Formats: sequence, structure tokens, C-alpha cells
Amino acid sequence: KRIINSAANGCKRSLTSKAIPASYYRNQQASSTDGFIGAIGNTPLIRLNKLSEETDAEILGKAEFMNPGGSVKDRAALGLVLDAEEKGLLKAGGTVVEGTAGNTGIGLAHVCRARGYKCVIYMPNTQSAEKIDLLRMLGAEVHPVPAVAFDNPQNYNHQAKRHADSIPNAVWTNQFDNPDGNRAIHIHTTGPELWLQTNGTIDAFTCSTGTGGTFAGVTNYLKSMNSDIGCYIADPPGSVLASYVQTNGEKMDRDGGSITEGIGQGRITENMTVDVKKADGAFTVPDSDSIAMLYRLLDEEGIYLGASSALNVAAAYKLAKDLGRNEDGTKRKIVTILCDGAYRYQSRLFSRKWLESKGLVDAIPQHLQKYIIL
Ligand code: PMP
Repeated sequence: KRIINSAANGCKRSLTSKAIPASYYRNQQASSTDGFIGAIGNTPLIRLNKLSEETDAEILGKAEFMNPGGSVKDRAALGLVLDAEEKGLLKAGGTVVEGTAGNTGIGLAHVCRARGYKCVIYMPNTQSAEKIDLLRMLGAEVHPVPAVAFDNPQNYNHQAKRHADSIPNAVWTNQFDNPDGNRAIHIHTTGPELWLQTNGTIDAFTCSTGTGGTFAGVTNYLKSMNSDIGCYIADPPGSVLASYVQTNGEKMDRDGGSITEGIGQGRITENMTVDVKKADGAFTVPDSDSIAMLYRLLDEEGIYLGASSALNVAAAYKLAKDLGRNEDGTKRKIVTILCDGAYRYQSRLFSRKWLESKGLVDAIPQHLQKYIIL
């Protein structure tokens, strides 16, 4: 039984459809788009064939790596800029300042360039030279700063805020705690796209969280369309979400660390405060499962994904096994997010030395170890 409800969101204040440029809703068949922003979103939904044949589910991955800046965070970058414009915080020629370790910065640098804003990025100085170079090529002013915890005033996020406060016509877009810009774009775009691409036949959705914008926005939209859709948080080791959901918010235990980048969280961000309560469950995916899935997807589907995507698919695969078929015997349809490609991480993920240092070579099935080429 599917309940169609067009009142799609519970956002305190969300992007109006006016704020999202018409070019965003380009016809997928159209031969050209209106600039960079017109090419964000409307990504394909890919059936992962081998995993679907092996389980009692259709496992589908939303190809966010096909966004023009290369990741799911192009959507958040667009949402954050549109929100700042709509609130009058950003005017022509203004400056966007953000703290980010990677994909959001790259998305923002692209969006700012396309819309004529300056872009200032504060990032931990532990990040790769490739990322810093790319940001600078895209015209961003990059400030690598010591990697210190969130409660330290020198943390990259707080430095970004102070920078924005100190210059005129500048905004700190605050991706972690700005649901109007981040979560809302997923309520307005990613969620509806998934609904349309599946004709509303999704049984379960799972993904990991960094800022939480993707999980919260998609969950909010899908549950508003059909509250029976199961929404599950997939956590890397070292993140508190799994413990938080499993204990109904009583505990925030964390253990260990992870090879995944861009996901895992030590607190409940404002993007997540409403929708974390709607999660039907949460679980931790060990790095050994994520890396094995990353190599499987390359071999079986020819898809070259970063570790957070691999973790998401490993989570969908686990759900397929745990949930089994629908009561009427039909296969369940399980959807997840393919966040970005492996290009930004390949010197690690395909390096024997690096994998050995993480104790992960043996997690990769023997016949797939031929792909460890670096
Ligand atoms: N995967 C990657 C590679 C990312 O960079 C991010 C964002 N940091 C995510 C997943 C998580 O997305 P969100 O911030 O919407 O939770």
C-alpha cells in the first residue's frame, strides 16, 4: 500500500521552487544544459546487476559521481549558495566561505565560479595536495589549517566563520548545521528524483552520513510519500550515529576509525536533528566489507567508486540479506547513494602498501587482488 502525499517536507524553512533555477530541472533527454548548475542532479539510478541477482532484492545506486563536480556534494553546494542568496546574505560579487575537507569545497568552488562569487575554503592541512591544487585551479582561496577538534576555536569550521564575519558581503554557508541550504536541496531534488525513477516502488533506503544532508533530506521526502519505506543509517567505524539510533538517543558510543572519507560523525548535526528520529535502524559497516565491495563493484559492474559509496552498497547488500523478500514474495527494491568516484583516493585504495598498513589486503577476495596495481 503506497500513500501518495504531496506535502513533501517538514523543513522549518526550505528552498522555494523559485530559488532552484529552472535549468536545474532540465529535461534528461535534452542535448544541452544551462551551464554548470544546470548539470547538477538528475543523475541515473543504476541497477547493480550481480548483487541483485545474488540476493532477494533489486539493489539500485544513485550515480552521484556523475554530477559535474564529481560528487553528491555538488547538490549541497548549490543548495547552500541558493539559500544564502534567498536570505539576502549573498549579493553579486560576494564571497562564500566554508570549512570542508573535500567534496563540498570542490562543489562550492565550481558553483561560485559559475555564479561570479569569490570562494574561500578552510581545510585541515592533512588533506591531499591534489585537492588543494584543484580548489585553487577552480579559483578558490585555500587556507590549510592545523587539524584540530571541533571544540578547539582554531578548528577549520570556526576559522571559516570568523573569516566571513570579518569581511563585507560574505557568508559562512555552514554545511553541517544549515538544514535550509543542505538538507533542503535533497528534499527538493534527490528524494523526488528517486521517487520518480522508481515510480514510488522503493522498499528501503540506506546511506551513510557526513553532514547528514543526504540521509536526512532523502529520508524526509521518501517518508512523506510513503511512511512504510524503511530508512537505515549506514555508519563507518568511529561514528556515533549507529549507537545513537540503536539506543534511542541514549548513547553516542564510538569505536575505532575508518578508511572512508567524508562520512562518520561525532555529534547530531542540525541537518539530522529531525530526521534521525525517523530512521528505522542503523548499523556499522566494517572497513573490510567496504573495501571488498569496492573491488567487487569494479570487477562485476565496471563502476569505479570511492569508499563511502562502497560502504553504502555493502549496507544495501546487508539489508537485502536481512530483510529478505516482501510478504507477497516479490523482491525488495533497495536504494542507496554512489557518492563519488575513486579518482580522488586511488593512490590509497589501489596501493598495496597502503592497504597493508590498514590490514585490509586479506579482506579483498583473492581473485580481485589483481586490481591492487599501485
Ligand atoms: N561521501 C563522500 C565522499 C562525501 O564527501 C560526503 C560528504 N562529506 C558524504 C559521503 C556524506 O554526505 P552528507 O554530507 O550529505 O552526509
